[in-house]
Amino acid sequence: MQYYNNNTLIYLDGDFVKASQAGVDFYGQALHYGYGAFEGLRAYNTHNGTRIFKAEQHFERLQQSCEAINIPYKWNNRELVEKTYELLALNNLREAYVRPLVLSGSNMHLTSATDSKILIAAWEWGPYLGQNLLKVCVSNIQRPNPKAFPVNSKISGQYINSILASSEAIKKGFDEALLLDQNGFVVQASSENLFIEKDFKIYTAPQQDAFPGITRQTVINICRNLNFEIIEKPLTVEEVYAADSAFLCGTAAEIIGIRQVDHIEYKEDWEHTIGASIQRRYKNLVLENENYEVII
Ligand code: PMP
Repeated sequence: MQYYNNNTLIYLDGDFVKASQAGVDFYGQALHYGYGAFEGLRAYNTHNGTRIFKAEQHFERLQQSCEAINIPYKWNNRELVEKTYELLALNNLREAYVRPLVLSGSNMHLTSATDSKILIAAWEWGPYLGQNLLKVCVSNIQRPNPKAFPVNSKISGQYINSILASSEAIKKGFDEALLLDQNGFVVQASSENLFIEKDFKIYTAPQQDAFPGITRQTVINICRNLNFEIIEKPLTVEEVYAADSAFLCGTAAEIIGIRQVDHIEYKEDWEHTIGASIQRRYKNLVLENENYEVII
């Protein structure tokens, strides 16, 4: 996958510069210690033009992630949203995945950052996990301990945990990994939130245990709007196995159904599940085919 070519521009601290010439701070804490924070947004080609779904919320979460780890956040989020639209237009992208990244500056000490830069890159990207129903496995790798790390923030270094879990899953022939917390509950996938359906009710892990996905909250809002009962509670592996159906959601993956968890295959035809109705509703929402205000 080629993320940029010689003409691709990125937004770097106030300027649009060629991605191929942007350079890296080789003495940066971001590079050495993974001391940075990032976001993932999606722009859709809608009948109202190119529209980034919930752009402000993503930049607010980026700010919260930086604040959680004491990286200076010097930018105005509204301006960053405008710059992102400009970046998409400059790169002729009507739909894209957008990746803002805040990098801490040169400092080899293990002390809080005093300096930071922001870059925003964008590229065309289909649904992260593809469009086919998924085979997922319960990982041997747990989510990080929330007492050791602000796991509700999108912090660069934390994604080594996600890389380990998803690559272990792929090596075993699965598409994605489900991670347990220290108490043995199934919290979410490596970079998506998890929902299961049982007896016409939808369940997901409580907000405080899982990453506060913007898609997760959108799914909850859709459930409420469609009068599907939604229950947030810790989920055991047995409950996930015994579900009627399940799906993952995230900005990159959007909403994608699960066919199999470990050796258990869900019997329900995905197209007839509540998850499939939510998936259709989500697509209409991001494409602005539905009245946004009513649902959100
Ligand atoms: N969990 C993790 C660990 C994530 O990094 C993400 C974002 N990729 C998600 C869940 C989904 O969050 P969102 O819906 O806001 O993209």
